[in-house]
Amino acid sequence: MSSSVALRLPSIDGLLRHPACVPLAERYGRESLLASLRQLLDELRSSVLNGQLSAVEISPDVLAGRVGERLAQQQRSNVRRVFNLTGTVLHTNLGRALLPDEAIDAVQMAARYPLNLEFDLATGKRGDRDDLIEGLIRELTGAEAVTVVNNNAAAVLLTLNSLGARKEGIISRGELIEIGGAFRIPDIMARAGVRLHEVGTTNRTHARDYEAAISPRSGLIMRVHASNYSIEGFTARVPTAELAELAHRHGLPLLEDLGSGSLLDLTRWGLPAEPTVRQALLDGADIVTFSGDKLLGGPQAGLIVGRKDLIAKIKKNPLKRALRVDKLTLAALEAVLGLYRDPDRLAERLPSLRLLTRPQAEILAQACRLQPAMAEVLGEPWQVSAVQALGMIGSGSQPVARLPSAALCLRPQVSKRLRGRFLLNLEAALRSLPIPVLGRIDDDALWLDLRQLDDEPAWLAQLPQLQVES
Ligand SMILES: *Cc1c(COP(=O)(O)O)cnc(C)c1O
Repeated sequence: MSSSVALRLPSIDGLLRHPACVPLAERYGRESLLASLRQLLDELRSSVLNGQLSAVEISPDVLAGRVGERLAQQQRSNVRRVFNLTGTVLHTNLGRALLPDEAIDAVQMAARYPLNLEFDLATGKRGDRDDLIEGLIRELTGAEAVTVVNNNAAAVLLTLNSLGARKEGIISRGELIEIGGAFRIPDIMARAGVRLHEVGTTNRTHARDYEAAISPRSGLIMRVHASNYSIEGFTARVPTAELAELAHRHGLPLLEDLGSGSLLDLTRWGLPAEPTVRQALLDGADIVTFSGDKLLGGPQAGLIVGRKDLIAKIKKNPLKRALRVDKLTLAALEAVLGLYRDPDRLAERLPSLRLLTRPQAEILAQACRLQPAMAEVLGEPWQVSAVQALGMIGSGSQPVARLPSAALCLRPQVSKRLRGRFLLNLEAALRSLPIPVLGRIDDDALWLDLRQLDDEPAWLAQLPQLQVES
């Protein structure tokens, strides 16, 4: 006969009175503590009955500690700050552009107080939220009118639906693109109720191709900036000015989806040329759409600018109400646009432009400065070097262009067979730091591109906590 007596879990009441649980009730609330205790005991019950747990494992001290960990875990926000050392500056999965202080202050104000979101302070009458930024956008782009929605995908959907529903939208086969996730031009057109009429070929589309497609069923001509891929070699594309002339000759509007679009010529900062919104409008595009959080460096938003009569039509579409932006976005957007009035200081004040234009020498100096600390923490099997690297703008802007940057290159000095595991373990360890550090694995090494390492003290402070499994 077995002499073992089944262990019994402590009671809930007993645990609630345990000295380690009392402060937990104070900190997280009695209800949360109770729920966590119940859940933990439920989970342990069958293991206890099967004799799989020792008396120590279910002692009140240990259980109180476990419940404390659970509650702390639960309270931690799911939205976490990270270090983006991937080398991609406008990283869609990591939140794209970082806002300048001016925009953060504006968001705080808008969050804290009532504001004139749709109220005209001059007349005391109901206002329109687009009016808050219309003046600035007109000044910066030369557009006649403006409306703002949730993101550029929404801008394209709303524009197509407002101007082309139940008609044909003519577009070059070379521009039927997919942009990360589920945004494909043909699908958006279909959802907008526009019948796709594709013309030309993937690499070459001529004015005569567009011309031949025009019929009484046509509603608009669309042009999409092929932001995230590039076709090189034997190519032909009709310049916007020529396409606009052709569209207007047939009484059709020309929509241009610039994707990132830029308000200023980026080459003045040594960055790759990107079409500007002003130029697209000057070339004759009737409506131009672009993102707020790509090269513009602002909050997530989709800007629709262009001809006054068309914007009025777009604003009347009931979908506009479903896709509109909130007060926090408008507050941030106005503040960011305000900085564009002083281009000379823009690269100091707008974080995305400041990061994009950081000189390689400065980044390399930073890599050399941080190399010893990283080498010491990683120890024996790792070779840590400060090297030149190539980064990217991101968000589909200039997919081929590379930003000369610098990185810490972390290379495991182990046999080829073990290298992959070492790299994945290091990547996971960096991700588990209090402020997760995200790099990229390439060419048998883990690269930490330092272009975006602004907060060096915080990065260094948590480094001793790095624990790599081997
Ligand atoms: C990025 C992009 C979009 C989508 O913009 P979001 O702001 O991400 O919604 C649409 N069209 C083009 C050409 C783009 O580059």
